[in-house]
Amino acid sequence: MPGTAAVYYDGLVSRRQAVEISLHPEGLAIFTPDGRLATTWPYAAIRRIEGFAGEGLAITRTPEPGSAAEPRLEIADQRFAADLAARAPLTLTQGMAARRERRNVVLWAIAAAASLVGLAYIGLPAIAGRVAPLVPAGMEERLGAAMDPQIRQQFGGATPLKTCTNPEGVAALADLAGRYERAAGLHVPLRVVVLDHRMVNAFALPGGYVYVMNGLIQRARGPDEVAGVLGHEIGHVRYRHGLQSAIQSGGLGFLLGTVFGDFAGGTAVVLASRALIQSAFSRDAERQADAFGVDLMLKAGGNPEGLAGFFTSLGAGAPGALSWITSHPANAERERAILEMARGRARSAPALTPEQWTALRAICQKTE
Ligand SMILES: [Zn+2]
Repeated sequence: MPGTAAVYYDGLVSRRQAVEISLHPEGLAIFTPDGRLATTWPYAAIRRIEGFAGEGLAITRTPEPGSAAEPRLEIADQRFAADLAARAPLTLTQGMAARRERRNVVLWAIAAAASLVGLAYIGLPAIAGRVAPLVPAGMEERLGAAMDPQIRQQFGGATPLKTCTNPEGVAALADLAGRYERAAGLHVPLRVVVLDHRMVNAFALPGGYVYVMNGLIQRARGPDEVAGVLGHEIGHVRYRHGLQSAIQSGGLGFLLGTVFGDFAGGTAVVLASRALIQSAFSRDAERQADAFGVDLMLKAGGNPEGLAGFFTSLGAGAPGALSWITSHPANAERERAILEMARGRARSAPALTPEQWTALRAICQKTE
């Protein structure tokens, strides 16, 4: 039985692992990239995960005795998924995550209904801040997945922006992003890609989708500047700023769309994507993201002075410079604040080795 590639989360840490899977008489076998058998899931233990936002099928297994982990496997290969479905019952998961999700959906529906009433009294921005924490992570991921093609199209026009895929560059980025993700403790999996565009920009969608434009990597003076921007964007993910912005700009359409679970192609998604590109987050949100980025660098690699230096080196007159730089006059103040946060605290390892930095700079030599 030929195998296929899949993505595995062990349910203990949020790290995404590339694995190979294949079907065997005794169950679904999961192999590490170096060909070692990691585990086998008996077919009877396999459950489908409800509401998976990506392509294909997401599954988990009933817990093994004495284990609290809820592992997760994402299978994009449709044919393999069909073969698996012929052998495994694939009933829906009744696990903790599913129960939590159902409870959150109920809470969220109540909050959304209350918001419609409250709207008339306190206005949308205030509501966005209050309801965003109640939105289930799975729902936020679905929104991000729906916004992803919108964003690529709005920047790319006739030819939507492509992802840069030169393997060494992808590996260098995955190493950095993986370290930051483990240190960040996010509610959603982190999905960082470089987009092939000369703009000096980076942004975070709801649901863990982070984009760095190639122009920013080419303009940066070293890996710390890129790492600092990445850490900052992960801060926006952590505090769900993209989700808040989407709730604000998508308005009632978005609120109703989330209740009924139908995002893709909706007007609200188009509006939310446009707003995320065109308007800046609030000053408080930017400060929060800066502080989070500094913390990540100190914990997981990089020098925060890189993030600070970014404001002076990249902010001035770069084509399509980050809106959060150009729209805030207080860059010098922000730079000082970052240096102040980092002062006297121990530095961790460099963000990237010189070889990784060279590889990252060449990441767009291949795209898809
Ligand atoms: Zn920002």
